[in-house]
Amino acid sequence: MNSPRFLIEGFQRFRERHFAEDSVQFQNLVQFGQTPKALVVACCDSRVDPALVLDCAPGDLFVVRNVANLVPPAENQGHYHGTSAALEFGVKDLAVRHIIVLGHAQCGGIHALLEGSVDKEESFIAEWMGIADAAREQVEREHANASSEVRHRACEQQAILVSLDNLRTFSWVRERVEQGKLTLHGWYFDIERGELLGYDATTGKFEPLQP
Ligand SMILES: [Zn+2]
Repeated sequence: MNSPRFLIEGFQRFRERHFAEDSVQFQNLVQFGQTPKALVVACCDSRVDPALVLDCAPGDLFVVRNVANLVPPAENQGHYHGTSAALEFGVKDLAVRHIIVLGHAQCGGIHALLEGSVDKEESFIAEWMGIADAAREQVEREHANASSEVRHRACEQQAILVSLDNLRTFSWVRERVEQGKLTLHGWYFDIERGELLGYDATTGKFEPLQP
């Protein structure tokens, strides 16, 4: 069997950390089940693993990852709503208190959306990125003459806001937000500057997050 060796060795280290005789953390998670504090919608990008970036332990985060960390609107047509199903489980069954849409700099999905670099006829990505069309249109309107860096950054952040709006189209999200049981957050991991920004609804901007 030609398995990637670095992954098997990684699992050995994980096992020593979490399954040693004096480690009760994982045994508790297995015995009592998971009670994650937050649900994170993150990108598939290999550089933005939420558990690593936010320094979380097993059981802390319920993570949904897809191309460009998008939340689709609630809809009944179609069949395979992977992201919506994960959101439903996190919100209704696990009763998470926070949902964080975690965008990031240098997002390949947003790049494809802005540059039109994937063929719509032959790509799952182009169809999926259509969720963020409103973000693209706004950036093209407001930053028509800006550098590609500025346009990409603006679109990466605007797409987070589209996803936050789409989250509220799910009745079980909207109800819990109105009841104060659930809070929605838009965060942006700037992998170039090593910063974590959060959307501030009062200023309408992404600002550095402080503990
Ligand atoms: Zn991305």
